[in-house]
Amino acid sequence: MAQNVEVDALDSNSNAAISVAEAVRTTLGPKGLDKLLIDQMLNRHVSNDGVTILLSLRTIHPVARMIVEIAERQEELVGDGTTTAVVMAAEMIKEGRRFIREMGVHPTKVVEGIEVAVASACKILEEYAVPIRLEDVALEQVATTALASKLDGRGLSKVVVQSIRAVANEAIYDGKYDFEKCIAVIRKANYEDQLIDGIVLERRRIDPSMPREKLNGKILICKLDLKPVKSDWLKEGSRYSDVLTMEKDRDRRAKEIVDSLLATGAETILIASPEVDEMIENQLIARGVFATHIATDEVEPLARYLGVRPARMPQDLQQPDVTARIGRVYEDETHSLIHLEKSSGKRMVTLIVSGTTKETSLERWRAVLDGLNAAEAALNQRVVPGGGAAELYVEKRLRELQLKGVEQVGVDVVNQALESVMRQLLTNAGYNGLEKVMAAKASPDGYGIDINTGLPADMREKGVLDPVLVKTTALQAAGEITRSVLRIDRNLAAENLDPGAVSDAKR
Ligand code: ADP
Ligand code: MG
Repeated sequence: MAQNVEVDALDSNSNAAISVAEAVRTTLGPKGLDKLLIDQMLNRHVSNDGVTILLSLRTIHPVARMIVEIAERQEELVGDGTTTAVVMAAEMIKEGRRFIREMGVHPTKVVEGIEVAVASACKILEEYAVPIRLEDVALEQVATTALASKLDGRGLSKVVVQSIRAVANEAIYDGKYDFEKCIAVIRKANYEDQLIDGIVLERRRIDPSMPREKLNGKILICKLDLKPVKSDWLKEGSRYSDVLTMEKDRDRRAKEIVDSLLATGAETILIASPEVDEMIENQLIARGVFATHIATDEVEPLARYLGVRPARMPQDLQQPDVTARIGRVYEDETHSLIHLEKSSGKRMVTLIVSGTTKETSLERWRAVLDGLNAAEAALNQRVVPGGGAAELYVEKRLRELQLKGVEQVGVDVVNQALESVMRQLLTNAGYNGLEKVMAAKASPDGYGIDINTGLPADMREKGVLDPVLVKTTALQAAGEITRSVLRIDRNLAAENLDPGAVSDAKR
């Protein structure tokens, strides 16, 4: 009986992991297919994005959920390579299980071996990687490679690189490129792709009777307390005359606040205060101000872009640094977008990503983020040949180490996982993946298979480049989940686990 439980745990857990991977493996690479996702509200959505697909699965099995988590973590740490991480994880688990089952190696030994092999593989990858510079054609190539499988990838990779080059000089924080701080990406259906030099807010001004445009005026970010003071209005027994007095007070206070805001010379006011007295809004309208609400998390990037310090206290308004000049502020009324352009602060650009439907603009928006993340990782941490070529190189070097015993088991497992990337890319392109991998292995370092001709080719010459960080992070994540899965010898709630969870994931 106890024996059965053990067998069940390893099989049930690895099967769960492998079937979740099934759901995304066919999307890997430029010829990967898409998935049609249908949510509980019967909304349909076509996606090629690993994380998006995985998150849409109603996976109940805890191990299946672990796979989803590594994809999420990959997304968080690198922002690209989620499918790669999942494909490698499934392969490692499958191969690790084979050693335990067929060769009778103890799980602990297999796990130890995998840890050593993953660490060596990452070291080899790091040494193999080469740096790229902003002006190199390699930057375009990294973006194109990252977006190869996406809708209109080529067009999108162009705007990705264009926006990076526009801000790069001001995008260095702590010695590293951080494009999130200076490239905003928003999506808008039925629009056209646009790169705007400045910030675009998906907002409208407080009232359409406010001026639609301000040129060369001063701007202010207001975080002051603008709530109406009406706490004791309706006190029991309060008389009509009291209420009138209070209303007058409220009106006077609104005027005072607006006076002090305008005394700074500001003609445009971005209001981040959570609740704003209507009387204050009416004053702003009456006095010809361009004003809009902004969210708390918009304050920081806006302050950076505008070169102002947000006004939090009334006395802040006396300080000169709460306002700055801005070349142009206007509302594009047709699209409900407010443009802030030509500021005196840090350079920022906004990429507006369109799509004929909400779904396509969402998918293209995600693709742009993948491209930006890959390019950032490439500039910060170097690149390796893509298309599975770097993985084959590592495999070869690991074999040369000629390790013995446990460590050799680990190398065998990790090598299978490394190879699975190219195999899957080519299988998805309609080739016999295994055969093509053999052909690539017989070719020089850095060679893979040209996805269009099926012939061996130098991936660097073809311009297929991946950030090394994508590969090392994916390998480590795969190693970690394999360790967890192989080390579990009992699922304690085993009877309650719904085996249907696994087939659910396949759907
Ligand atoms: P992920 O979610 O792992 O990023 P993708 O679908 O984006 O998955 O595929 C990425 C893989 O596709 C990388 O291994 C990359 O090297 C490979 N790839 C991209 N373009 C090409 C190409 N033209 N030829 C061969 N492989 C390519
Ligand atoms: Mg990708």
